[in-house]
Amino acid sequence: MELPPLFVDRMARLLGDEYAAFREALQGRPHVGLRVNTLKLSVEDFAARSPFALEPVPWCRAGFRVTDGQRPGKHPYHAAGLYYLQEPSAMAPAEVLAPRPGERVLDLAAAPGGKTTHLATLMQNQGLLFANDVQPKRVHEMTNNLDRWGATNLAVLTEQPRRLAERLGAFFDRVLVDAPCSGEGMFRKDAAARRTWTPNHVARCARIQEGILRHAARLVRPGGVLLYSTCTFAPEEDEGTIARFLKAYPDFSVEPIPAEHGFAPARPEWADAPEEVRGAVRLWPHKLPGEGHFLARLHRDEDAAPLPSPRPFRPRPPGGELWAQYRDFVAQTLREEPAPRHRLAVFGNRLYALPEGLPDLAGLRVARFGWWLGTFKTGRFEPAHALALVLRAADFHHTVDFPADAPEALAYLRRQPLASAGSNGWVVVTVDGFPLGWAKRVHGVLKSRAPRWLGRI
Ligand code: SAM
Repeated sequence: MELPPLFVDRMARLLGDEYAAFREALQGRPHVGLRVNTLKLSVEDFAARSPFALEPVPWCRAGFRVTDGQRPGKHPYHAAGLYYLQEPSAMAPAEVLAPRPGERVLDLAAAPGGKTTHLATLMQNQGLLFANDVQPKRVHEMTNNLDRWGATNLAVLTEQPRRLAERLGAFFDRVLVDAPCSGEGMFRKDAAARRTWTPNHVARCARIQEGILRHAARLVRPGGVLLYSTCTFAPEEDEGTIARFLKAYPDFSVEPIPAEHGFAPARPEWADAPEEVRGAVRLWPHKLPGEGHFLARLHRDEDAAPLPSPRPFRPRPPGGELWAQYRDFVAQTLREEPAPRHRLAVFGNRLYALPEGLPDLAGLRVARFGWWLGTFKTGRFEPAHALALVLRAADFHHTVDFPADAPEALAYLRRQPLASAGSNGWVVVTVDGFPLGWAKRVHGVLKSRAPRWLGRI
C-alpha cells in the first residue's frame, strides 16, 4: 500500500523507534467490526445466534470484531437493525462520552449515524438525543440508519452548528464532536483517503474543527461534557485543535481518559499543547485491534455562564379526520397504542411521537421530530418503516416470519412478491422473530413495502 511520502516522513519523525510497528500495522488488513443493538436484544442473545465468528472489543461491551471474513452487511439481521457495522476504534467515543438514560445529548457532526446509534443504545431510548450534520445527503442516509435502529428519543437536524448554538444555547448535558478530519486512520481501508491527503488538507481540517468547536462549546451546559474525536493521527488536528480550544474557552478543562485497553496518552509535545492535553488518548493501529482514533474529554466548569435555554415544544395532536384514520390503522394492526395521544404531533403529512422534553425547533431544518409513526395519504394512514422497527413482533396483530437463511427474507428485502395465506391488510415481516418491515397482503400475495434503500445494503 502506497502512503503519501510527506505523511510517512512526519510519522517516522514523530514515532521514532515505534514507527516500524506502526508502518507494519498499516500494511495489514482493516478490521471488520459490528456493535450489537441492545435496544432489540442482549449482547448474550446476539452472541448465541451470531452467524459470524466474533471476538469481543475490550472497550465496548456490545462491540465485536468479525474474524471469519464474512460480510455482515449483507445479512437480514443487519436489515432488522440487530447491529451496526463499525470498526472497533470508532466504538470508543460514545463509550467515553458515556451518556446516561434521561440526559440531553447532542451528536453535532453525526452522519451517517454510527456513533448516534451507539449513543442511542447507551441511553436506552430515555432522554433526548439530537443528531445533526451539515450535509443533506449524509443526513438522509443517517435517517435511514436511525429508522432501522429503532431509537424513539431522537431529533435529526441538518443545521449549521452556529444556528444550533444561537437557538438552543447551553441545553445539552453531553455533546459529541466527531469532527471532519484528514482521515489518516482510514488509510488502511480507503484508497480515496490516501489520495486526497495533503498537508494543506490537514491545515484546512484543523480550521474547520476550530469553527465547529467554537459553537459546540456554547451548547454544553455548565458542568457538562464535550467529547472531541477524530480518526486521524495529525497532531495539528488532535492535540493542536484541543490546545487552541482550551486557550479560547478557559471554562473547559481536559478530563483524563484512563489509558487502558491499549489506549495511549496523547502527545502534547507534538503540537505545543499544554500538559493537561496528555489526558486525551490516541488509539494506534499497532497497539490495539482498530484503525486509529483520537479522543479528548472536555469538562465545562459548573459556574460557567450559560446561554438561555430554549422554550419547550407544545405538540398539537391530530384531530378530526386524521385522528380517525390513525385510530382505524392502530385498531387493525397493533395490539396497543404505540405512544400516548399527548405526545403525537403532525408535521406536514407526517405523524410523529415526540420525545419527552423536546424544545421548540421552529425555524430549524429538522429531518425527524422523534419517532416517525407514519404518513397521512389521501383518506388513509400509511405506517412508517420506523414504526415496525421500534416495536416487537408481539406488538402486531399480523406477522409472517422467515428464518434468516430462507430465500424469502432476501426476496422481501428486494421487494419481490411472496405467496402468503391470510386476511388482507398490513402485515409485519420478521426474520427469526425480529421485524424487518411492512408488507401488504392482498388475496394471498404479500407485497413488500421494504424501503428501496434496504434492498441495497
Ligand atoms: N459521527 C459519524 C459516524 O460515526 O457515523 C461520522 C462523522 S464524520 C467523521 C464527520 C462529519 O462532519 C461528516 O458527516 C460531515 O458532513 C460533517 N461536517 C463537516 N463540517 C461540519 C460542520 N461545520 N458542522 C457539522 N458537521 C460537519
